[in-house]
Amino acid sequence: MKRWTIKELYAQKPVGEEVVVKGWLRSQRKTKTFNFIILNDGSSQGDLQIIADAELPNYEQFSKCGTGSSFAITGKVVESQGKQPIELHATNVEIYGNVGEDYPLQKKGTSMEFLREIAHLRPRTNTFGAVFRIRHHLAQATHKFFDEKGFFYVNTPIVTAMDAEGAGELFRVSTLDPANPPKNDKGEIDWSEDYFGKQAYLCVTGQLEGEAFATALGSIYTFGPTFRSENSNTPRHLAEFWMIEPEVAFADLDDIAQLGADYIQYMIKYAMEKCPEELEFLNRFIDKGLKSKLESVANAPFKKITYTEAVEILQNCKKKFEYKVEWGADLQTEHERFLTDEHFNGPVIVTDYPRDIKAFYMKQNEDGKTVRAMDILVPGVGEIIGGSQREENYDKLVERMNEMGMEEDLYDWFLDLRRHGTVPHSGFGLGFERAVMYITGMSNIRDVIPFHRTPNHVEF
Ligand code: ATP
Ligand code: MN
Repeated sequence: MKRWTIKELYAQKPVGEEVVVKGWLRSQRKTKTFNFIILNDGSSQGDLQIIADAELPNYEQFSKCGTGSSFAITGKVVESQGKQPIELHATNVEIYGNVGEDYPLQKKGTSMEFLREIAHLRPRTNTFGAVFRIRHHLAQATHKFFDEKGFFYVNTPIVTAMDAEGAGELFRVSTLDPANPPKNDKGEIDWSEDYFGKQAYLCVTGQLEGEAFATALGSIYTFGPTFRSENSNTPRHLAEFWMIEPEVAFADLDDIAQLGADYIQYMIKYAMEKCPEELEFLNRFIDKGLKSKLESVANAPFKKITYTEAVEILQNCKKKFEYKVEWGADLQTEHERFLTDEHFNGPVIVTDYPRDIKAFYMKQNEDGKTVRAMDILVPGVGEIIGGSQREENYDKLVERMNEMGMEEDLYDWFLDLRRHGTVPHSGFGLGFERAVMYITGMSNIRDVIPFHRTPNHVEF
């Protein structure tokens, strides 16, 4: 007999039909003559209620099974008087596996920290089921959004020799024996003996290679894993995270800022359409204001200010910050959160940052002090998008690279994009987990990725 998912059952309500459902026991409640079994199969937020009569031959066995046990249950779909429109009247209950006495998810109200330690089991909870179904739909929304706009999906390399962000937050990729590396005459490690013949790293961005494709196919995006060895133990940094990076030929900073806002709003609307039950659940148990926040952000235009204006707002407000606000310094999380959570009470686009705190490839403004950069900040999270118009002028780009002491031959191919048919172009990176945090209301980035990698943590 065909297995039905619980999602399919609720969608089609095949009253009178005999079906099989397979899933994990959420709870069972015994009466004298039957059991109420509550089953979830992960297909949706919804549980199925099943009536299992005491006459069933293995009633004693399955009645003893604990929360988390796996069952295949055959039965007839009947209309229900309960909360759900239908329930199942069981004719057969097959036990796949009971749980051991030490099953860690039996107790209610386990902490997020504890659930991180059992990240292999936490997807079975209602909260993580909701988060990861939403994460799936946001990934689908991403591909749909860009595809509908005529962008091409490009897979850029994960192993690279370039530190494109210049932040030195690289993970080395090497096959040399760390105990006995080959040395050159000066006694330094001889990287020419390494696998790639030079030093190699995991990528911190796919942007530079993305630019090669944008200056050929016009509009492209990447969606892949990104690695940064930054030693920031914060609720919004991971060592391994996923990034979406559109790169658009002939686009300027305003175009790309608009694209970023449209993309965030598209994801929000997509989640509201595809995951109403998940959002309802998270709104009840994780973040009470979630639904109203998403509804208000979905359609309203984003506020837009320059970095210089942001600094003025921060310097003139009454709030005491831990980090001093000074023109020229990067905005700290507390500053970003003040702008989004308190001053604007919504997302805000900040443009034209000081050039000295930004990457080499950003287009320089006429003022000689700022670059055509933009960050999109959202309440509860802070920065979710970082982007810029790119420097398309060969001389200016080389000058900046020299100033920053970059190895020019590594980037020679990148300079070709300016030597041959250069065009104005712009792009941004959106941290996928930051977007999932924002749209699910989860407050720690470790809880929106299946298995998190952070300093001193590479479990599972
Ligand atoms: P932050 O100031 O928050 O460290 P950043 O300026 O280093 O961010 P960018 O280099 O602009 O970030 O990267 C683009 C986007 O990637 C960011 O807006 C953010 O959403 C995401 N991102 C950056 N670093 C991380 C990280 N360590 N973990 C998760 N997401 C990240
Ligand atoms: Mn960073």
